[in-house]
Amino acid sequence: MDKLSQEVDTALASGTSYGKWKAKQPIVKPAVKPAEVDEDRGILDNCRWCGKPFNSIHGAKYCCERCKDEGYRHKANERERRKYWEQKALKEN
Ligand SMILES: [Zn+2]
Repeated sequence: MDKLSQEVDTALASGTSYGKWKAKQPIVKPAVKPAEVDEDRGILDNCRWCGKPFNSIHGAKYCCERCKDEGYRHKANERERRKYWEQKALKEN
């Protein structure tokens, strides 16, 4: 099960909708933000998707192509869902 489905399940289990539940969640920032800079190998950073430390070159946010794809896909899904709930909320008011 992916992260998004897990979140939807959590929301439904607590008796609310995904949109309402998500709006209450705190914004999670990466736990570790190392400042170690190496000109040739990039900056030691944590993957935004799997959290694994990796050398970020040219500001890369994901450790590998797979995580990048998953991360982008998740972000796109989140945007779609947010848009849906925002429009739904507008109609209800
Ligand atoms: Zn990764």
